Amino acid sequence: MPKVAIYPGSFDPVTNGHIDIVERGLKLFDKIIVSILYNPKKEYLFSLEERMEMLKDCLKKFKNAEIDSFDGLLVDYAASRKAQAILRGLRAMSDFEYEFQMALMNRRLNREVQTVFLMTGLRWIFTSSSIIKEAVQFGGNIDGMVPALVQKKLKQKFALAPESQQSG
Ligand code: ADP
Repeated sequence: MPKVAIYPGSFDPVTNGHIDIVERGLKLFDKIIVSILYNPKKEYLFSLEERMEMLKDCLKKFKNAEIDSFDGLLVDYAASRKAQAILRGLRAMSDFEYEFQMALMNRRLNREVQTVFLMTGLRWIFTSSSIIKEAVQFGGNIDGMVPALVQKKLKQKFALAPESQQSG
């Protein structure tokens, strides 16, 4: 049976840190389903469609990575996709407490699905979607932290790019 992992998240937007985790994960799993959790109560900068499009473009080089979205319980979604594992990335200790709680809850809900944590590359230890959004909003330089397409979309969102002025 192929080893399949779900890599869930908001991906608002996808960063080089996320891509690093997918690349590392593909050394362990036959397939990774990168799946955007749709939470209607949460506010996102990018719509679900925009986040899916960016993920698709940025992960197109990995032929064993699939992009999807889901709502409801992650373990139910994992079972429906026949995935044996949930993949999560760890940066600093600060990620650990929340991730630990979530992993234990998910294990309680379904003992068949294992949570696997991968350490990010050192280069991406301070990279997070929220910090990047804050930096761009105030004109900060985020070169090298996100793929070029994402950088362009971020600038358009905050009306900093010439393209967004042309399109209104
Ligand atoms: P969530 O809202 O679920 O935390 P994110 O899109 O912020 O969604 O993150 C999804 C997953 O990617 C989480 O496991 C998070 O810890 C991990 N992650 C985010 N940024 C990085 C990074 N720079 N390096 C490694 N993992 C990361």
